[in-house]
Amino acid sequence: MAAKKKTNQDCIFCQIVAGKIPASVRFEDEEMLAFDDINPHAPIHVLVIPKKHIESLTHITKQEEALMGRLIYRCRELARELNIADSGYRVTINVGRWGGQIVPHLHLHLLGGAPLTERLGMYSEAKMTIGARE
Ligand code: AMP
Ligand code: ZN
Repeated sequence: MAAKKKTNQDCIFCQIVAGKIPASVRFEDEEMLAFDDINPHAPIHVLVIPKKHIESLTHITKQEEALMGRLIYRCRELARELNIADSGYRVTINVGRWGGQIVPHLHLHLLGGAPLTERLGMYSEAKMTIGARE
């Protein structure tokens, strides 16, 4: 695999990391950033991202295995801080076109604060007519 660029100038999340686009930051350290989703799907909707540009879960390598664990652990910590740990919450990663990923920079959605729908794997028959790689 070609070496990953650390940042991608065209990437909206890289621009948030660089401070060029404002965000409501919930957590930051040297390798990750957590901020509120601009179009929340639940009362609490935080995105947790690696600072380096990784396109999607498909694009991580063995090298990022531990980083993935720390991103998930951060969701756990944020859930506690935001008082949704006891009521329950969801952590989701959309991957690629059919996975519903719109922003091509790996991110974990932390959703909670209300009972979430159980319809986790709903799919759109209409969208299936569009090629996954289109
Ligand atoms: P996904 O569909 O998994 O790629 O999710 C991308 C998410 O990024 C969506 O929930 C968007 O609302 C969110 N988003 C896009 N632009 C911004 C932004 N500038 N600040 C915060 N969230 C954003
Ligand atoms: Zn990026």
